[in-house]
Amino acid sequence: MISLPAPGLKRQDMIDIDGLPALPVTSIRGLAEGPVVLVVSGVHGAEYVAIQALMEVAGGLEPSVVRGGLIMIHPVNPEGFRERRATVLPKDGRNINSLFYDDTYDGPAARIARFVAGLQSTADFYLDLHTADLFEETAPLVCYPATGNEEVTQASRQAALVVDAPLMIKSSMAGAGITEAAKRGLPALLIKRGGIGGACPEAEVDLYRKDIINVLTHLGVLAGKPILPARPPREVFPLYLRSARQGVWRPSVSPGQAVAAGQLLGVITDFFGHEAERFMAEKDGQVLYGLTALSASEGDILLVY
Ligand SMILES: [Zn+2]
Repeated sequence: MISLPAPGLKRQDMIDIDGLPALPVTSIRGLAEGPVVLVVSGVHGAEYVAIQALMEVAGGLEPSVVRGGLIMIHPVNPEGFRERRATVLPKDGRNINSLFYDDTYDGPAARIARFVAGLQSTADFYLDLHTADLFEETAPLVCYPATGNEEVTQASRQAALVVDAPLMIKSSMAGAGITEAAKRGLPALLIKRGGIGGACPEAEVDLYRKDIINVLTHLGVLAGKPILPARPPREVFPLYLRSARQGVWRPSVSPGQAVAAGQLLGVITDFFGHEAERFMAEKDGQVLYGLTALSASEGDILLVY
């Protein structure tokens, strides 16, 4: 288990957790009292913009500007990072962010989730940073948990409002870090922004860094007032489009784009180009994120809008 350093100190260490690849952790404790915030990136090891942005924030912050404490893990899934694997921990093929407080599985991904959950129990806020995964494209969005009591929900939602994203989702995905944190009384946020096909452009890293600093300022770990976005994120209630088959995916819309009920969202064809499945929008909305890969498998999320 990691504990915060003595007041006024910063540490950057590789932390071993029983037989798994060591995790890079930056911990900082300010001289003044304040909240303790746990910030993680790279739970999905190929979400590079989030990983790079948190590395830069962790490198740049000094104890003199921190009130309370910060524990930052960047990334949580270094094995996925090394192997350029989307979504899962390569060792067991499981998604760490679906295994928080899961007592039915004890493999490596669950042990990493347990380690992060242990740190959550020492923190006052949990911030989980994501990017479009290797085969995704996303509009900037922020999710706050629906699974806590009213006070936890409101504290999470207030923090979401300082994120520079057009869209905000109230989320209750089972086993996810923010969902389970909120159930146990910890306000939390998940931000997802930037990256397409594994790219990590500096401009997107800059925007992400600003979001992280703004949330930390809002929470009072950093002094000052957050720079509020020109327009706060708009709350949306997304629909998930899943593929019923393996095939060739051709989307007709992209993240950020508005769609109208009845509009064509995309088609799945076979290798001869014969249409096998056609997806139309059930209601008006805006595309949040989607699969950019040509290849779709049964059960894949094709589009969220
Ligand atoms: Zn992710």
